[in-house]
Amino acid sequence: MKILAINAGSSSLKFKMFEMPEEIVIVSGLFERIGIDGSGYTIKINGEKIKKEVELKNHEDAVKYLIEELIENEIISSLDEIEAIGHRIVHGGDKYADSVIITDEVLNDIESFSSLAPLHNPANVLGIKAFQKLVPKATVVGVFDTAFHQTLEEKDFLYGVPYEWYTKYKVRKYGFHGISHKYLANYMEKKLGKKEFKLITCHLGNGGSISAIKNGKCIDTSMGFTPNAGILMGTRAGDIDASIIPYIMEQTGMSLDEVMNSLNKESGFLGVSGVSSDSRDIEEGILENNQRCILTHQMFVKSVVSYIASYYVLLGGVDAICFSAGIGENSSKVRKDIIEALSVLGIKLDEEANNVRGKEALITTSDSKISCYVIPTNEELMIAKDVYNLVK
Ligand code: ADP
Repeated sequence: MKILAINAGSSSLKFKMFEMPEEIVIVSGLFERIGIDGSGYTIKINGEKIKKEVELKNHEDAVKYLIEELIENEIISSLDEIEAIGHRIVHGGDKYADSVIITDEVLNDIESFSSLAPLHNPANVLGIKAFQKLVPKATVVGVFDTAFHQTLEEKDFLYGVPYEWYTKYKVRKYGFHGISHKYLANYMEKKLGKKEFKLITCHLGNGGSISAIKNGKCIDTSMGFTPNAGILMGTRAGDIDASIIPYIMEQTGMSLDEVMNSLNKESGFLGVSGVSSDSRDIEEGILENNQRCILTHQMFVKSVVSYIASYYVLLGGVDAICFSAGIGENSSKVRKDIIEALSVLGIKLDEEANNVRGKEALITTSDSKISCYVIPTNEELMIAKDVYNLVK
């Protein structure tokens, strides 16, 4: 069965087509700068890259080009061969604890959650509608980034604010990157060969989050009401004292929108280092003895270590810790410094094994009390699996 996994952003559309249940990637690619000058796409088929600059006025244009390429390259002979399409949806509110087939009601819900995720859900809806129009026979499935965290208990998802903020306005921790954390949890379940295990998953990309997982169920996660909570990130501040916001507005005359923009787009690695949001640039800065890059790295490591330590206690011990996403999969230095800071828990790094990029590895020694792994995440495959399970 051919299944498309779609991740639609406001000006981009990423896709991967799988043959399921074999989990074979048939084609993948990215449409960029939709609705902006200089738009185009890149498609990878059998290791070969096709790159074209074309005008993409909207998401529908992207889907039209995608279909054209699929037919021209003989990946499909008719649209009927695309049996199902899974869309990554950032926010499923507190209603969706699992992936679902998208009906009119579900689509209305996703639109209504836009107030909770104004940067993401409207773009996800554009993607869904474009495919519904152009590939009308395919079953459409929504796979939510919040769903995996819906197992959190009230004591873990509530903030210490008036209870009515939750009941009336849905203010609570939702958690994000759930598709990735779920993928890692499933992967580790197979790897450890048991259903009862305690796991901490570290998704460290440009955005980052950490989850505590007990027997496959998430019991806590570092992102919150929005993705701007938890650890220090590329451009997001992570946890801060809310009182900073009115104070900075008063001191600088910035509007609320400007301060929030700063906390989302000008903070984190970029804000602290003044150099870059990219961890590779921060690591280069450290080699050049740039003090603010050193500081950024120290703050990042401390924020990750604090969450791991607190989840260790919450879980009552840990069987394994996984590192994933851009930084987690690629930066030996970040992993080394995090693991060394956790040595009080009896974790011992295997320096040689840790010298690895982008592939699965056990990076702790055989006498380490907790095993740490590098596990490349695969959100698209997780989407395709959920879709397959719903439509098979
Ligand atoms: P997202 O999907 O959230 O945009 P990614 O998971 O692609 O982000 O992660 C991006 C981050 O991963 C960037 O900070 C980038 O610097 C980092 N990264 C990618 N490759 C490496 C590498 N070889 N060494 C260190 N960091 C890396």
